Amino acid sequence: MQAPNDLADAAFADTVFRVGRAYGMTADRVIYQSLAVKDGRITAVGRSRDELDSFTGPGTAVIDDPELVLYPAFNDTHNHQLLAARDLDYVSLEQARSVEELVHALREAADRTPPGQWVISSRCWHETHLREGRLPTARELDAASAGHPVFVQRGGHVGVANSVALEMAGITATSADPPSGTVVRLGDRTPAGVLIEAGALDPVRRLLPPVTQAQQADLLARQCRLYNRRGIGVVRDPGLVPGEVAVYRAVADRGELTTRTRLMFWVMPQATVADTLAYIDSLPEPGSVGGDGGGLGIWGLKLGMDGGVEGGFLDEPYANNPAFRGHAFWEPDDFGQVVEHAVGRGWRVGCHAVGDSAVRRVLDTYEQVTRRHPGLPPGTLVIEHAFLADAQTRARAVRLGVGITVQHPLLYSLGGNLVRYWGPDRASQVMPVRAWVDEGALIAAGSDCNVSFFDPLLSIWGLVTRGTRTVGVQGPEYRVDAYTAIGLYTAAGGRLLGEDRDVGILAPGAFADIVGFRADLLDSPVDDLPSQQPALTLVGGRPVHDPDGLLGAAERR
Ligand SMILES: [Zn+2]
Repeated sequence: MQAPNDLADAAFADTVFRVGRAYGMTADRVIYQSLAVKDGRITAVGRSRDELDSFTGPGTAVIDDPELVLYPAFNDTHNHQLLAARDLDYVSLEQARSVEELVHALREAADRTPPGQWVISSRCWHETHLREGRLPTARELDAASAGHPVFVQRGGHVGVANSVALEMAGITATSADPPSGTVVRLGDRTPAGVLIEAGALDPVRRLLPPVTQAQQADLLARQCRLYNRRGIGVVRDPGLVPGEVAVYRAVADRGELTTRTRLMFWVMPQATVADTLAYIDSLPEPGSVGGDGGGLGIWGLKLGMDGGVEGGFLDEPYANNPAFRGHAFWEPDDFGQVVEHAVGRGWRVGCHAVGDSAVRRVLDTYEQVTRRHPGLPPGTLVIEHAFLADAQTRARAVRLGVGITVQHPLLYSLGGNLVRYWGPDRASQVMPVRAWVDEGALIAAGSDCNVSFFDPLLSIWGLVTRGTRTVGVQGPEYRVDAYTAIGLYTAAGGRLLGEDRDVGILAPGAFADIVGFRADLLDSPVDDLPSQQPALTLVGGRPVHDPDGLLGAAERR
Protein backbone atom coordinates (compact mmCIF):
# COMPACT_ATOMS: atom_id res chain seq x y z
CA MET A 1 0.00 0.00 0.00
CA GLN A 2 1.26 3.45 -0.89
CA ALA A 3 1.92 6.01 1.80
CA PRO A 4 -0.43 9.02 1.58
CA ASN A 5 2.52 11.25 0.77
CA ASP A 6 3.45 9.23 -2.31
CA LEU A 7 -0.12 9.39 -3.51
CA ALA A 8 -0.17 13.14 -3.04
CA ASP A 9 3.21 13.56 -4.77
CA ALA A 10 1.98 11.54 -7.71
CA ALA A 11 -0.83 14.02 -8.27
CA PHE A 12 1.19 17.22 -7.91
CA ALA A 13 2.74 18.91 -10.91
CA ASP A 14 6.40 19.72 -11.36
CA THR A 15 5.45 23.17 -12.65
CA VAL A 16 2.21 25.12 -12.69
CA PHE A 17 1.86 28.21 -14.87
CA ARG A 18 -0.62 30.95 -13.96
CA VAL A 19 -0.25 33.34 -16.90
CA GLY A 20 -1.99 35.98 -19.00
CA ARG A 21 -2.63 33.73 -21.98
CA ALA A 22 -1.48 30.36 -23.22
CA TYR A 23 -2.30 29.64 -26.87
CA GLY A 24 -3.10 25.97 -27.38
CA MET A 25 -2.66 26.34 -31.19
CA THR A 26 -5.12 23.46 -31.65
CA ALA A 27 -7.91 23.49 -34.24
CA ASP A 28 -10.38 25.03 -31.76
CA ARG A 29 -8.05 28.05 -31.19
CA VAL A 30 -8.45 27.62 -27.45
CA ILE A 31 -6.69 30.00 -25.03
CA TYR A 32 -5.81 28.89 -21.49
CA GLN A 33 -4.56 30.76 -18.44
CA SER A 34 -3.05 27.88 -16.53
CA LEU A 35 -0.97 24.83 -17.41
CA ALA A 36 0.37 21.98 -15.29
CA VAL A 37 3.54 20.13 -16.32
CA LYS A 38 4.78 16.82 -14.97
CA ASP A 39 7.52 14.47 -16.18
CA GLY A 40 8.11 16.51 -19.29
CA ARG A 41 4.52 16.65 -20.49
CA ILE A 42 1.54 18.93 -20.06
CA THR A 43 -0.82 17.13 -17.69
CA ALA A 44 -3.64 19.65 -17.32
CA VAL A 45 -4.87 22.94 -18.76
CA GLY A 46 -7.20 25.53 -17.27
CA ARG A 47 -9.27 28.40 -18.67
CA SER A 48 -8.65 30.58 -15.61
CA ARG A 49 -5.49 31.43 -13.71
CA ASP A 50 -6.51 29.59 -10.54
CA GLU A 51 -8.10 26.53 -12.12
CA LEU A 52 -5.08 24.28 -11.55
CA ASP A 53 -4.13 25.44 -8.06
CA SER A 54 -4.98 21.99 -6.74
CA PHE A 55 -2.03 20.62 -8.76
CA THR A 56 0.47 22.59 -6.70
CA GLY A 57 2.03 20.77 -3.81
CA PRO A 58 5.41 20.15 -2.22
CA GLY A 59 8.08 20.59 -4.89
CA THR A 60 5.83 22.29 -7.44
CA ALA A 61 7.35 25.36 -9.07
CA VAL A 62 4.65 27.97 -9.63
CA ILE A 63 5.18 30.59 -12.32
CA ASP A 64 2.62 33.20 -11.46
CA ASP A 65 2.92 35.99 -14.00
CA PRO A 66 -0.11 37.66 -15.60
CA GLU A 67 2.14 39.33 -18.20
CA LEU A 68 3.45 36.07 -19.57
CA VAL A 69 2.00 34.78 -22.86
CA LEU A 70 2.77 31.16 -23.74
CA TYR A 71 2.90 29.39 -27.09
CA PRO A 72 4.13 25.96 -28.08
CA ALA A 73 7.90 26.24 -28.62
CA PHE A 74 8.75 27.03 -32.24
CA ASN A 75 9.22 24.07 -34.52
CA ASP A 76 11.68 24.52 -37.39
CA THR A 77 10.84 21.73 -39.84
CA HIS A 78 13.85 22.29 -42.10
CA ASN A 79 16.98 23.31 -40.24
CA HIS A 80 20.45 21.92 -40.90
CA GLN A 81 21.20 22.07 -37.19
CA LEU A 82 24.41 20.03 -37.22
CA LEU A 83 25.80 21.82 -40.31
CA ALA A 84 24.99 25.15 -38.70
CA ALA A 85 26.76 24.01 -35.53
CA ARG A 86 29.87 23.14 -37.53
CA ASP A 87 29.82 26.70 -38.89
CA LEU A 88 29.71 28.30 -35.45
CA ASP A 89 33.44 28.96 -35.24
CA TYR A 90 33.91 29.79 -38.94
CA VAL A 91 34.17 33.38 -40.15
CA SER A 92 30.73 34.99 -40.27
CA LEU A 93 30.10 37.03 -43.42
CA GLU A 94 26.47 37.79 -42.61
CA GLN A 95 27.15 41.46 -41.87
CA ALA A 96 29.32 42.18 -44.93
CA ARG A 97 27.84 44.80 -47.29
CA SER A 98 30.58 44.79 -49.93
CA VAL A 99 33.39 42.59 -51.24
CA GLU A 100 35.78 44.85 -49.34
CA GLU A 101 34.00 44.22 -46.02
CA LEU A 102 33.90 40.50 -46.76
CA VAL A 103 37.63 40.45 -47.47
CA HIS A 104 38.23 42.52 -44.33
CA ALA A 105 36.41 39.95 -42.15
CA LEU A 106 38.50 37.16 -43.68
CA ARG A 107 41.73 39.14 -43.25
CA GLU A 108 41.00 39.65 -39.54
CA ALA A 109 40.50 35.91 -39.18
CA ALA A 110 43.69 35.20 -41.15
CA ASP A 111 45.63 37.48 -38.80
CA ARG A 112 44.56 35.24 -35.90
CA THR A 113 45.35 32.02 -37.80
CA PRO A 114 48.83 30.46 -38.08
CA PRO A 115 50.14 30.70 -41.68
CA GLY A 116 49.28 27.73 -43.85
CA GLN A 117 46.13 26.88 -41.90
CA TRP A 118 42.67 27.23 -43.43
CA VAL A 119 40.50 30.32 -43.14
CA ILE A 120 36.92 29.14 -43.72
CA SER A 121 33.68 31.11 -43.82
CA SER A 122 30.27 30.15 -42.49
CA ARG A 123 27.76 29.17 -45.19
CA CYS A 124 25.08 31.57 -44.01
CA TRP A 125 25.45 34.72 -46.15
CA HIS A 126 24.62 35.74 -49.70
CA GLU A 127 26.33 37.75 -52.42
CA THR A 128 23.13 39.65 -53.22
CA HIS A 129 23.66 41.39 -49.86
CA LEU A 130 26.95 42.82 -51.16
CA ARG A 131 26.97 46.15 -52.97
CA GLU A 132 28.57 44.41 -55.99
CA GLY A 133 25.83 41.76 -56.01
CA ARG A 134 28.28 39.00 -56.94
CA LEU A 135 30.59 36.42 -55.41
CA PRO A 136 34.20 37.47 -54.73
CA THR A 137 36.98 36.23 -57.00
CA ALA A 138 40.06 34.20 -56.05
CA ARG A 139 42.12 37.34 -56.66
CA GLU A 140 40.02 39.34 -54.24
CA LEU A 141 40.29 36.62 -51.61
CA ASP A 142 44.06 36.66 -52.09
CA ALA A 143 43.92 40.16 -50.61
CA ALA A 144 42.66 38.62 -47.34
CA SER A 145 45.78 36.47 -47.22
CA ALA A 146 48.30 35.07 -49.65
CA GLY A 147 49.74 32.90 -46.87
CA HIS A 148 46.57 30.99 -45.96
CA PRO A 149 44.24 28.81 -48.01
CA VAL A 150 40.92 30.69 -47.87
CA PHE A 151 37.60 29.01 -48.59
CA VAL A 152 34.41 31.03 -48.65
CA GLN A 153 31.37 28.75 -48.40
CA ARG A 154 28.02 30.11 -49.51
CA GLY A 155 24.96 27.92 -48.83
CA GLY A 156 25.33 24.26 -49.66
CA HIS A 157 26.01 24.47 -53.38
CA VAL A 158 28.57 27.23 -53.95
CA GLY A 159 32.04 28.15 -52.71
CA VAL A 160 34.96 30.41 -53.60
CA ALA A 161 38.61 29.46 -53.05
CA ASN A 162 41.60 31.79 -53.08
CA SER A 163 44.64 31.05 -55.25
CA VAL A 164 46.47 29.06 -52.53
CA ALA A 165 43.42 26.86 -51.94
CA LEU A 166 42.82 26.31 -55.68
CA GLU A 167 46.45 25.30 -56.13
CA MET A 168 46.31 22.89 -53.17
CA ALA A 169 43.14 21.30 -54.61
CA GLY A 170 44.77 20.87 -58.01
CA ILE A 171 42.29 23.22 -59.70
CA THR A 172 44.44 25.02 -62.27
CA ALA A 173 44.28 26.45 -65.78
CA THR A 174 45.29 23.06 -67.15
CA SER A 175 43.30 20.74 -64.85
CA ALA A 176 40.36 18.86 -66.36
CA ASP A 177 36.84 19.97 -65.49
CA PRO A 178 34.96 17.67 -63.10
CA PRO A 179 32.32 15.33 -64.59
CA SER A 180 29.64 17.18 -62.57
CA GLY A 181 29.60 20.66 -61.07
CA THR A 182 31.22 23.79 -62.50
CA VAL A 183 34.66 25.32 -62.08
CA VAL A 184 34.10 28.91 -63.21
CA ARG A 185 37.01 29.94 -65.46
CA LEU A 186 38.32 33.12 -67.06
CA GLY A 187 38.91 33.39 -70.81
CA ASP A 188 42.38 31.79 -70.54
CA ARG A 189 40.95 28.90 -68.42
CA THR A 190 42.41 30.34 -65.20
CA PRO A 191 39.99 29.31 -62.41
CA ALA A 192 38.08 32.41 -61.26
CA GLY A 193 37.69 30.93 -57.77
CA VAL A 194 33.96 30.15 -57.88
CA LEU A 195 33.08 26.45 -57.58
CA ILE A 196 29.51 25.24 -58.06
CA GLU A 197 28.01 21.96 -56.80
CA ALA A 198 29.73 19.03 -55.11
CA GLY A 199 31.70 17.82 -58.14
CA ALA A 200 33.61 21.10 -58.25
CA LEU A 201 33.65 21.75 -54.49
CA ASP A 202 34.79 18.36 -53.24
CA PRO A 203 38.50 18.70 -54.18
CA VAL A 204 38.64 21.69 -51.80
CA ARG A 205 36.29 20.26 -49.17
CA ARG A 206 38.44 17.12 -48.91
CA LEU A 207 41.38 19.27 -47.74
CA LEU A 208 39.55 21.07 -44.93
CA PRO A 209 40.71 20.11 -41.44
CA PRO A 210 38.43 17.45 -39.95
CA VAL A 211 36.37 18.45 -36.94
CA THR A 212 36.45 15.67 -34.35
CA GLN A 213 33.26 14.08 -33.08
CA ALA A 214 33.84 15.57 -29.62
CA GLN A 215 34.28 19.05 -31.13
CA GLN A 216 31.11 18.57 -33.17
CA ALA A 217 29.20 17.54 -30.06
CA ASP A 218 30.29 20.70 -28.24
CA LEU A 219 29.33 22.84 -31.22
CA LEU A 220 25.94 21.12 -31.53
CA ALA A 221 25.14 21.75 -27.87
CA ARG A 222 25.99 25.44 -28.36
CA GLN A 223 23.84 25.64 -31.47
CA CYS A 224 20.85 24.17 -29.61
CA ARG A 225 21.21 26.89 -26.96
CA LEU A 226 21.24 29.61 -29.62
CA TYR A 227 17.98 28.21 -30.96
CA ASN A 228 16.42 28.01 -27.48
CA ARG A 229 17.20 31.69 -26.96
CA ARG A 230 14.95 32.51 -29.91
CA GLY A 231 12.20 30.15 -28.76
CA ILE A 232 12.97 27.11 -30.91
CA GLY A 233 12.21 23.84 -29.15
CA VAL A 234 11.85 21.40 -32.05
CA VAL A 235 14.02 20.89 -35.13
CA ARG A 236 13.86 18.56 -38.13
CA ASP A 237 17.41 18.22 -39.47
CA PRO A 238 17.38 17.21 -43.14
CA GLY A 239 20.31 15.46 -44.71
CA LEU A 240 22.66 13.61 -42.37
CA VAL A 241 25.03 10.76 -43.08
CA PRO A 242 24.67 7.80 -40.68
CA GLY A 243 27.91 8.55 -38.81
CA GLU A 244 26.52 11.90 -37.72
CA VAL A 245 23.84 10.22 -35.62
CA ALA A 246 26.62 9.40 -33.15
CA VAL A 247 27.22 13.13 -32.63
CA TYR A 248 23.54 13.59 -31.87
CA ARG A 249 23.47 10.58 -29.54
CA ALA A 250 26.52 11.90 -27.66
CA VAL A 251 24.91 15.30 -27.10
CA ALA A 252 21.58 13.70 -26.13
CA ASP A 253 23.34 11.36 -23.68
CA ARG A 254 24.94 14.40 -22.01
CA GLY A 255 21.50 15.96 -21.63
CA GLU A 256 22.57 18.85 -23.87
CA LEU A 257 20.38 18.20 -26.90
CA THR A 258 18.05 21.01 -25.88
CA THR A 259 16.05 20.96 -29.09
CA ARG A 260 13.74 18.01 -29.70
CA THR A 261 15.29 16.79 -32.92
CA ARG A 262 14.08 14.61 -35.77
CA LEU A 263 16.71 13.44 -38.25
CA MET A 264 16.66 12.69 -41.96
CA PHE A 265 19.30 10.68 -43.83
CA TRP A 266 20.64 12.08 -47.08
CA VAL A 267 20.23 9.68 -50.00
CA MET A 268 22.24 10.56 -53.12
CA PRO A 269 21.84 8.69 -56.39
CA GLN A 270 24.57 6.02 -56.23
CA ALA A 271 26.24 4.38 -59.26
CA THR A 272 23.23 2.13 -59.79
CA VAL A 273 19.71 2.03 -58.40
CA ALA A 274 20.57 -1.28 -56.71
CA ASP A 275 23.43 0.48 -54.90
CA THR A 276 21.07 3.21 -53.71
CA LEU A 277 18.58 0.62 -52.41
CA ALA A 278 21.41 -1.22 -50.63
CA TYR A 279 22.50 2.05 -49.05
CA ILE A 280 18.97 2.65 -47.74
CA ASP A 281 18.91 -0.86 -46.30
CA SER A 282 22.18 -0.17 -44.48
CA LEU A 283 20.71 2.78 -42.55
CA PRO A 284 19.47 2.55 -38.95
CA GLU A 285 15.84 1.45 -38.62
CA PRO A 286 13.27 4.06 -39.64
CA GLY A 287 11.50 5.59 -36.67
CA SER A 288 14.02 4.46 -34.06
CA VAL A 289 14.48 7.01 -31.31
CA GLY A 290 17.28 7.81 -28.91
CA GLY A 291 16.41 6.63 -25.42
CA ASP A 292 15.80 9.97 -23.73
CA GLY A 293 12.08 10.63 -23.66
CA GLY A 294 11.51 11.50 -27.28
CA GLY A 295 14.26 14.08 -27.51
CA LEU A 296 15.92 12.45 -30.52
CA GLY A 297 14.22 10.57 -33.33
CA ILE A 298 14.70 9.55 -36.93
CA TRP A 299 12.04 11.08 -39.17
CA GLY A 300 13.00 9.66 -42.55
CA LEU A 301 15.03 10.06 -45.72
CA LYS A 302 16.02 13.18 -47.63
CA LEU A 303 16.43 13.21 -51.39
CA GLY A 304 17.09 16.10 -53.74
CA MET A 305 15.47 16.57 -57.17
CA ASP A 306 17.16 19.80 -58.24
CA GLY A 307 19.56 22.55 -57.17
CA GLY A 308 18.90 25.93 -55.61
CA VAL A 309 18.08 29.27 -57.20
CA GLU A 310 20.95 28.84 -59.68
CA GLY A 311 20.14 25.21 -60.48
CA GLY A 312 16.41 24.74 -59.96
CA PHE A 313 14.73 22.62 -62.66
CA LEU A 314 12.26 25.01 -64.34
CA ASP A 315 9.50 24.68 -66.95
CA GLU A 316 10.63 27.85 -68.72
CA PRO A 317 14.19 29.10 -69.29
CA TYR A 318 16.07 31.17 -66.76
CA ALA A 319 15.54 34.94 -66.98
CA ASN A 320 19.30 35.52 -67.22
CA ASN A 321 20.05 32.58 -69.54
CA PRO A 322 17.49 31.62 -72.20
CA ALA A 323 19.44 28.45 -73.01
CA PHE A 324 19.14 27.04 -69.49
CA ARG A 325 16.23 25.44 -67.60
CA GLY A 326 18.24 23.71 -64.86
CA HIS A 327 18.11 19.94 -64.62
CA ALA A 328 16.86 17.09 -62.47
CA PHE A 329 19.25 15.02 -60.35
CA TRP A 330 17.11 11.88 -60.72
CA GLU A 331 15.64 10.09 -63.71
CA PRO A 332 11.94 9.48 -63.06
CA ASP A 333 12.26 5.66 -63.14
CA ASP A 334 15.19 5.59 -60.73
CA PHE A 335 13.53 8.03 -58.37
CA GLY A 336 10.32 5.99 -58.47
CA GLN A 337 12.15 2.77 -57.61
CA VAL A 338 13.96 4.41 -54.70
CA VAL A 339 10.86 6.03 -53.17
CA GLU A 340 8.83 2.83 -53.65
CA HIS A 341 11.54 0.80 -51.93
CA ALA A 342 11.88 3.28 -49.07
CA VAL A 343 8.14 3.45 -48.41
CA GLY A 344 7.94 -0.33 -48.55
CA ARG A 345 10.55 -0.45 -45.76
CA GLY A 346 8.59 1.95 -43.57
CA TRP A 347 10.51 5.12 -44.40
CA ARG A 348 9.09 8.59 -44.75
CA VAL A 349 10.63 10.60 -47.58
CA GLY A 350 11.22 14.34 -47.94
CA CYS A 351 12.49 15.48 -51.33
CA HIS A 352 14.02 18.86 -52.09
CA ALA A 353 12.38 20.43 -55.15
CA VAL A 354 12.33 24.14 -55.98
CA GLY A 355 11.65 24.47 -59.72
CA ASP A 356 8.17 23.82 -61.12
CA SER A 357 9.47 20.94 -63.27
CA ALA A 358 11.19 19.39 -60.24
CA VAL A 359 8.10 19.70 -58.04
CA ARG A 360 5.98 18.06 -60.74
CA ARG A 361 8.47 15.23 -61.25
CA VAL A 362 8.47 14.49 -57.52
CA LEU A 363 4.67 14.57 -57.40
CA ASP A 364 4.42 12.18 -60.37
CA THR A 365 6.34 9.59 -58.40
CA TYR A 366 4.54 10.34 -55.14
CA GLU A 367 1.23 9.80 -56.94
CA GLN A 368 2.32 6.37 -58.25
CA VAL A 369 3.67 5.30 -54.86
CA THR A 370 0.54 6.52 -53.05
CA ARG A 371 -1.60 4.51 -55.46
CA ARG A 372 0.39 1.35 -54.67
CA HIS A 373 0.20 2.00 -50.89
CA PRO A 374 -3.39 3.15 -50.36
CA GLY A 375 -3.24 3.35 -46.55
CA LEU A 376 -0.21 5.63 -46.41
CA PRO A 377 -0.63 8.23 -43.63
CA PRO A 378 -0.69 11.85 -44.88
CA GLY A 379 2.77 13.37 -44.63
CA THR A 380 4.63 10.13 -45.34
CA LEU A 381 5.84 11.85 -48.50
CA VAL A 382 6.99 15.46 -48.28
CA ILE A 383 8.30 18.08 -50.71
CA GLU A 384 10.88 20.39 -49.18
CA HIS A 385 10.59 24.04 -50.34
CA ALA A 386 8.26 23.52 -53.34
CA PHE A 387 9.13 27.05 -54.50
CA LEU A 388 7.02 27.03 -57.66
CA ALA A 389 3.68 25.27 -57.32
CA ASP A 390 0.74 26.48 -59.41
CA ALA A 391 -2.90 25.75 -58.59
CA GLN A 392 -2.90 22.42 -60.42
CA THR A 393 0.26 21.22 -58.68
CA ARG A 394 -1.03 22.33 -55.29
CA ALA A 395 -4.34 20.55 -55.82
CA ARG A 396 -2.50 17.30 -56.58
CA ALA A 397 -0.29 17.62 -53.50
CA VAL A 398 -3.31 18.29 -51.28
CA ARG A 399 -5.27 15.40 -52.76
CA LEU A 400 -2.32 13.00 -52.26
CA GLY A 401 -1.70 14.12 -48.66
CA VAL A 402 1.83 15.20 -49.57
CA GLY A 403 3.45 17.35 -46.90
CA ILE A 404 5.06 20.68 -47.83
CA THR A 405 7.77 22.54 -45.93
CA VAL A 406 8.30 26.25 -46.62
CA GLN A 407 11.09 28.55 -45.43
CA HIS A 408 10.46 32.27 -45.74
CA PRO A 409 14.08 33.07 -44.79
CA LEU A 410 15.09 31.71 -48.20
CA LEU A 411 12.86 34.20 -50.00
CA TYR A 412 14.07 36.91 -47.61
CA SER A 413 17.76 36.20 -48.26
CA LEU A 414 17.69 34.92 -51.85
CA GLY A 415 14.96 37.22 -53.21
CA GLY A 416 17.51 39.31 -55.13
CA ASN A 417 18.95 36.26 -56.83
CA LEU A 418 15.50 34.85 -57.52
CA VAL A 419 14.55 38.02 -59.38
CA ARG A 420 17.79 37.91 -61.33
CA TYR A 421 17.75 34.20 -62.22
CA TRP A 422 14.03 33.47 -62.47
CA GLY A 423 12.64 36.93 -63.29
CA PRO A 424 10.26 39.07 -61.22
CA ASP A 425 7.07 37.11 -62.01
CA ARG A 426 8.39 33.75 -60.88
CA ALA A 427 10.21 35.31 -57.90
CA SER A 428 6.93 36.75 -56.62
CA GLN A 429 5.27 33.31 -56.88
CA VAL A 430 7.88 31.52 -54.77
CA MET A 431 6.34 29.64 -51.83
CA PRO A 432 2.64 30.52 -52.22
CA VAL A 433 2.02 29.96 -48.52
CA ARG A 434 -1.41 31.56 -48.31
CA ALA A 435 -2.71 29.47 -51.22
CA TRP A 436 -1.33 26.25 -49.70
CA VAL A 437 -3.01 27.04 -46.37
CA ASP A 438 -6.36 28.04 -47.91
CA GLU A 439 -6.39 24.90 -50.05
CA GLY A 440 -5.86 22.64 -47.05
CA ALA A 441 -2.28 21.52 -47.58
CA LEU A 442 -0.28 19.72 -44.90
CA ILE A 443 2.23 22.57 -44.76
CA ALA A 444 4.69 23.61 -42.08
CA ALA A 445 7.34 26.33 -41.82
CA GLY A 446 11.01 26.47 -41.04
CA SER A 447 14.19 28.29 -41.95
CA ASP A 448 16.64 26.21 -44.03
CA CYS A 449 19.33 27.47 -41.67
CA ASN A 450 22.26 27.51 -42.42
CA VAL A 451 21.53 28.43 -46.01
CA SER A 452 19.75 31.34 -44.32
CA PHE A 453 19.14 32.61 -40.77
CA PHE A 454 17.22 30.57 -38.19
CA ASP A 455 15.36 33.30 -36.29
CA PRO A 456 11.73 32.13 -36.07
CA LEU A 457 10.46 35.61 -35.18
CA LEU A 458 11.97 37.20 -38.28
CA SER A 459 10.62 34.25 -40.24
CA ILE A 460 7.10 34.73 -38.81
CA TRP A 461 7.37 38.42 -39.73
CA GLY A 462 8.24 37.29 -43.26
CA LEU A 463 5.25 34.93 -43.51
CA VAL A 464 3.00 37.85 -42.51
CA THR A 465 4.62 40.50 -44.75
CA ARG A 466 6.35 38.60 -47.60
CA GLY A 467 9.15 41.12 -47.07
CA THR A 468 12.69 40.44 -48.29
CA ARG A 469 16.13 41.84 -47.53
CA THR A 470 16.86 43.52 -50.87
CA VAL A 471 13.86 43.29 -53.23
CA GLY A 472 10.91 44.51 -51.17
CA VAL A 473 7.63 42.63 -50.81
CA GLN A 474 7.32 39.58 -53.06
CA GLY A 475 3.86 38.17 -53.82
CA PRO A 476 1.75 40.04 -51.20
CA GLU A 477 -1.22 37.83 -52.15
CA TYR A 478 0.53 34.99 -50.30
CA ARG A 479 0.70 36.77 -46.93
CA VAL A 480 -0.87 35.01 -43.96
CA ASP A 481 -2.10 36.49 -40.67
CA ALA A 482 0.10 36.28 -37.56
CA TYR A 483 -1.93 33.50 -35.94
CA THR A 484 -1.58 31.35 -39.06
CA ALA A 485 2.15 32.14 -39.24
CA ILE A 486 2.67 31.06 -35.62
CA GLY A 487 0.56 27.97 -36.33
CA LEU A 488 2.86 27.11 -39.25
CA TYR A 489 5.79 27.31 -36.81
CA THR A 490 4.12 25.20 -34.07
CA ALA A 491 1.12 22.88 -34.52
CA ALA A 492 1.71 22.46 -38.25
CA GLY A 493 5.24 21.28 -37.49
CA GLY A 494 3.85 18.59 -35.18
CA ARG A 495 1.52 17.43 -37.96
CA LEU A 496 4.36 17.32 -40.47
CA LEU A 497 6.47 15.28 -38.07
CA GLY A 498 3.56 12.84 -37.66
CA GLU A 499 3.48 13.73 -33.95
CA ASP A 500 0.49 16.04 -33.88
CA ARG A 501 -0.71 14.95 -30.41
CA ASP A 502 2.71 15.34 -28.82
CA VAL A 503 4.46 18.22 -30.54
CA GLY A 504 3.56 21.80 -31.43
CA ILE A 505 0.49 22.26 -29.23
CA LEU A 506 -0.28 23.12 -25.62
CA ALA A 507 -2.73 20.38 -24.65
CA PRO A 508 -2.93 17.60 -22.08
CA GLY A 509 -0.53 14.79 -23.03
CA ALA A 510 1.69 16.92 -25.28
CA PHE A 511 5.36 17.43 -24.57
CA ALA A 512 5.91 20.53 -22.43
CA ASP A 513 7.77 22.36 -25.22
CA ILE A 514 6.80 25.94 -24.44
CA VAL A 515 7.97 29.47 -25.24
CA GLY A 516 6.87 32.47 -23.20
CA PHE A 517 6.94 36.18 -24.08
CA ARG A 518 6.20 39.29 -22.04
CA ALA A 519 3.95 40.47 -24.87
CA ASP A 520 1.30 38.84 -27.00
CA LEU A 521 2.84 38.33 -30.43
CA LEU A 522 -0.67 38.54 -31.87
CA ASP A 523 -1.17 42.07 -30.49
CA SER A 524 2.31 43.19 -31.52
CA PRO A 525 2.73 45.52 -34.56
CA VAL A 526 4.07 43.22 -37.25
CA ASP A 527 7.37 45.08 -37.63
CA ASP A 528 8.05 44.63 -33.90
CA LEU A 529 7.90 40.83 -34.19
CA PRO A 530 11.59 40.35 -35.06
CA SER A 531 12.70 42.24 -31.94
CA GLN A 532 10.54 40.26 -29.49
CA GLN A 533 12.63 38.38 -26.95
CA PRO A 534 11.49 35.07 -25.46
CA ALA A 535 11.34 35.32 -21.66
CA LEU A 536 11.42 31.56 -21.22
CA THR A 537 11.80 28.42 -23.34
CA LEU A 538 11.05 24.94 -22.03
CA VAL A 539 11.73 21.67 -23.82
CA GLY A 540 10.23 18.58 -22.22
CA GLY A 541 9.35 20.67 -19.18
CA ARG A 542 12.97 21.68 -18.65
CA PRO A 543 14.02 25.33 -18.83
CA VAL A 544 16.51 25.64 -21.71
CA HIS A 545 16.34 29.44 -21.86
CA ASP A 546 15.47 31.26 -18.67
CA PRO A 547 17.43 34.54 -18.53
CA ASP A 548 15.41 35.91 -15.60
CA GLY A 549 15.57 32.67 -13.64
CA LEU A 550 11.76 32.36 -13.72
CA LEU A 551 11.88 28.67 -12.98
CA GLY A 552 14.77 29.00 -10.59
CA ALA A 553 13.02 31.78 -8.72
CA ALA A 554 9.56 30.28 -8.93
CA GLU A 555 7.85 29.86 -5.62
CA ARG A 556 8.14 26.27 -4.41
CA ARG A 557 5.34 25.11 -2.21
ZN1 LIG B 1 17.93 22.56 -46.72
